[in-house]
Amino acid sequence: MANLNEVFGCMVFSDHVMKQRLPKETYKLLQQTIKKGQPLDIGVANVVANAMKDWAIEKGATHYTHWFQPMTGITAEKHDSFIAPTNDGRVLMEFSGSELVRGEPDASSFPSGGIRATFEARGYTVWDPTSAAFVKGKTLYIPTAFCSYTGEALDAKTPLLRSMEALSRQAMRILRLFGNTDASSVVSTVGPEQEYFLIDKAMYEKRKDLIYCGRTLFGSRPPKGQELEDQYFASIKTRVAAFMNELNEELWKLGVLAKTEHNEVAPAQHELAPIFSKTNIAVDHNHLTMELLQRIAKKYDMICLLHEKPFEGINGSGKHNNWSIATDTGVNLLDPGTTPHENAQFLLFLAAVIKAVDEYQDLLRISVASAGNDHRLGANEAPPAIVSVFLGDELTGVVESITNGSSYDAKVKTLMKIGVDVLPPFPRDTTDRNRTSPFAFTGNKFEFRMVGSAMSIAEANTNLNTAVAESLRIFADELEKAADFNATLQKLVRETLKAHKRIIFNGNNYDEAWVAEAEKRGLLNLKTTPDALPHLLKEKNVKLFETHGVFSHTELHSRYDIAMEKYCKVLNIEAVTMTKMSKARILPAVTAYSKELAETANAKKALMGNEADVTYETTLISKISALTTALWKNTVALEEALEKTEALTDITEKAFSYKDLVIPAMAEVRSAADALELLTSKKHWPFPTYGDLLYSVI
Ligand code: ADP
Ligand code: MG
Repeated sequence: MANLNEVFGCMVFSDHVMKQRLPKETYKLLQQTIKKGQPLDIGVANVVANAMKDWAIEKGATHYTHWFQPMTGITAEKHDSFIAPTNDGRVLMEFSGSELVRGEPDASSFPSGGIRATFEARGYTVWDPTSAAFVKGKTLYIPTAFCSYTGEALDAKTPLLRSMEALSRQAMRILRLFGNTDASSVVSTVGPEQEYFLIDKAMYEKRKDLIYCGRTLFGSRPPKGQELEDQYFASIKTRVAAFMNELNEELWKLGVLAKTEHNEVAPAQHELAPIFSKTNIAVDHNHLTMELLQRIAKKYDMICLLHEKPFEGINGSGKHNNWSIATDTGVNLLDPGTTPHENAQFLLFLAAVIKAVDEYQDLLRISVASAGNDHRLGANEAPPAIVSVFLGDELTGVVESITNGSSYDAKVKTLMKIGVDVLPPFPRDTTDRNRTSPFAFTGNKFEFRMVGSAMSIAEANTNLNTAVAESLRIFADELEKAADFNATLQKLVRETLKAHKRIIFNGNNYDEAWVAEAEKRGLLNLKTTPDALPHLLKEKNVKLFETHGVFSHTELHSRYDIAMEKYCKVLNIEAVTMTKMSKARILPAVTAYSKELAETANAKKALMGNEADVTYETTLISKISALTTALWKNTVALEEALEKTEALTDITEKAFSYKDLVIPAMAEVRSAADALELLTSKKHWPFPTYGDLLYSVI
């Protein structure tokens, strides 16, 4: 590999490149757009577009695309070439400011939740200059937001950007009250840790469930799973290491700060963590990471599975969304600091987060709700569907001292006085201990661990930013009119922590007892996607998003419909795949095996008469026969459940029917099939087993 310094960001139209290539005045004006959101003059856009095009062509690009994030959960792109014909039959390479700033993809097939039907058929993309353009393959990628002609957001990025603005607006009010005059904005920062599985491509191709659904619908547990815990941080296999090297290099070229990689707990499971960045950039980079993971794996004859639960009984994959807020001057607002003044400010922001998580538990749960993640949340390796906050013993001690007036330091028996006392240091290793918490404070940031491995992190951060902006808004309203700032601050922190203490839980979240305890505390336990989604339209949530200009009522409704529809579609694909695999593959295979057993028994009898011992064959045949009947009946029952469900027209009813009728019917099919797998010869079983899949990469 070439010098890392030369490789990193070499395909990015970065600030560094812009400084070099843009006229001084243009650069300055563009910076004002990037930093302050001021509209970009078309003349300036023309100059930027031209410089961008020249640079991209040097990097081998022939095309450009407006890269956007429609509500499919993945990214979309349509490539246009730079060529423009000249009068004398040749071509020029052209790219104008208006092409840079605005695009019009043929957007009619992207989900809109009815928005485009009611308003205007077309949508358009607008350049997001805060996320740098880059060249990938032969194309210049321009990160954009995607809206309808009437301005409704049709993507995941627009609301995210709006939520970042809302958070900045409210946080700045607080900072000014604390006498901060140098910061001019506040950003949320995110470092998403990405988990994934790698399996052999040849094995994958033999499994229709993996091909169509990204997860296995059948498969009994292999003799060896993860019980020996010999995979976590184990030395990385040569093929996987080669893949990771190439992946890193490609990510670095695109300016993605891929930093850490290691084997995860489950066999064939791995993790990649980047260094954190501004949230909208982290979202873009995480999309690139997911895409490159899948593309580069194929070059090594492997398939990267991003699904949240590819294998039953084996750990699923998540995405740990490390989140914090910082000033544009680089001060992390969730860092406790070392002086009473810094500590006081930290405690106020901490209280804001705790209040936000408690009041908007449902929105955090909704932001990670998907058919795939339903298999993971609440299974025994992932955080449960109950949202709670882990603070660690030290910080909890401080919170208790503030709320009860008890001493937080046993030795000196002092009470915590905000704005006067200095907090005790919180050693990182102790705050990071609880791996079971869905929302854990880890020293200077929170780690939201419920996000699914296959999903965009945009929604989680949109909801989190907005909820925290709301706490800060309420705080700022109160503090701005306070006669005595310190006394009001003290009271505000104490009362907020007191009111929202129930959300703090430092114990084991995987423990059954927590479910009962959480219920006693009145916390929500929204177990599945259909249980969670209807909360999106609750009045308090509509009001929250409207107050901060993040979602209009129409936009929220459209998102609800899209999410419910997606849930139904995913389950439909899974159920149909299951019935096909059962009828076309498993039933014929076990029948053929039974026939072979029967023929063997008959041959033995023909040869040896009454002497023949056919116990093995007949016992096995009768067991297989009983299970075959069960599998057949269960498959028919699944088809019936599916038919009934598909006939429903109301999307909410339909989603619940998938959950209550189809999923249990699928479990029955699987149970009979998995039992058959254990009785059937390897030669007859129609596809690779869990053992084959999980230990396929050597
Ligand atoms: P670990 O959780 O494995 O101990 P770290 O705490 O160093 O590792 O980082 C985990 C992730 O959190 C990384 O992606 C890191 O960049 C990110 N992170 C660290 N600080 C912040 C921050 N202030 N805001 C957002 N993410 C952060
Ligand atoms: Mg982590």
